[in-house]
Amino acid sequence: MLGVAKSSSAAEIKKAYHKLAMKYHPDRSKGDKSAEAKFKEVNEAYEVLSNAQKKAAYDQYGPQAFETGGSPKRGGGGAHSEASGAGFGGFHFSGGFGGINFDDILNEVFGAGFGRGASQPRSVNLSQPGEDARFDLSLSLEEAFSGTVKHISFRIFCSCKKCRGLGSADAQVLTVCSACKGTGFFHSQQGFFTIERTCTSCGGAGRVIKNPCVACSGLGRVRKEKELDVKIPRGVDEGTRIHLVHEGAAGVRGGQAGDLYLFISVKKHALFQRKKNDLTCLIPISITTASLGKEIDIPALNKTPLSLKIPAGTQTGCQFRVRGQGMPDLHGATTGDLLVEVVVETPIKLTTRQKELLQELDETGQEAKNNPLLSSFFSKVRDFFADHKG
Ligand SMILES: [Zn+2]
Ligand SMILES: [Zn+2]
Repeated sequence: MLGVAKSSSAAEIKKAYHKLAMKYHPDRSKGDKSAEAKFKEVNEAYEVLSNAQKKAAYDQYGPQAFETGGSPKRGGGGAHSEASGAGFGGFHFSGGFGGINFDDILNEVFGAGFGRGASQPRSVNLSQPGEDARFDLSLSLEEAFSGTVKHISFRIFCSCKKCRGLGSADAQVLTVCSACKGTGFFHSQQGFFTIERTCTSCGGAGRVIKNPCVACSGLGRVRKEKELDVKIPRGVDEGTRIHLVHEGAAGVRGGQAGDLYLFISVKKHALFQRKKNDLTCLIPISITTASLGKEIDIPALNKTPLSLKIPAGTQTGCQFRVRGQGMPDLHGATTGDLLVEVVVETPIKLTTRQKELLQELDETGQEAKNNPLLSSFFSKVRDFFADHKG
């Protein structure tokens, strides 16, 4: 397939493969089915010939050595499965083409940066996804009201700049693990049984980084301060979580980054409290405003003062609804209301003149209609004592 002789050296095989892989690579032969098939065969051939152990098997048994298939036959044990059992103990080859990753081979031969595998290091086993992270963000009610952009910074694993997250000091990313000779496993004989253990040096990948990057010790990520500008939408509330995809910890050796979750809390406000999308505000009014009625200025969260008409005869606890002056809804176009609750304040520290005026009010002889609450209360008290006597 590669057009090399049985006696060819590893360098000659590699060179022949390089030429053919460039020729048939899917990036160049867009959609050409026969080129795709050729590319597969060339890769298959190289996978075999580049591995000394597999090449030895091929030299000895020919192509049949690799036709074990997905499920070995039971009982009969044809020549192929026998061969794989006897000749290739511990030789992990899934059969067919399914187990081979093009990009791994391409990266190995050409170094990272070839074709589809450009930004990715070997995708099998050596990379690991990054962890999700949490950041607690405290906002003012005004910020929650209008939405904002917050600059945050925190310590987290970031992709190593020196090696572009690959963990390798140079382009020749991977080499066969010397501990397990590339199989990813160790075998030891215990009586009749062969015990198989995953290689701890390569984690079972069979490959290790050839020259680990010194900045990240070959991990492809380093812990450092990460800065981020986060857009906070209008209407966020205490307990709102903002999910930022891939802003968590960088993955190991090019693995996908984790996600970042912002947990929002909203600081207490001096004037307003939030109830779902409504805002409440407690406003004190004087007895004269409460008695005579008056248009008063009230605050709004958007800092544009509003006026509110307090009708004559307003009592403590009266609530007024100002439409559309609440919080914007996080998920919709609606806006809550502002609920103003009034408290009538009893004046204190009166001057002699003020006392005289109030005295005068008292002496004018107030009728029941002036104080309906008071007169209804007294009538209940009278009834109570009358019942008691009866
Ligand atoms: Zn690095
Ligand atoms: Zn190993």
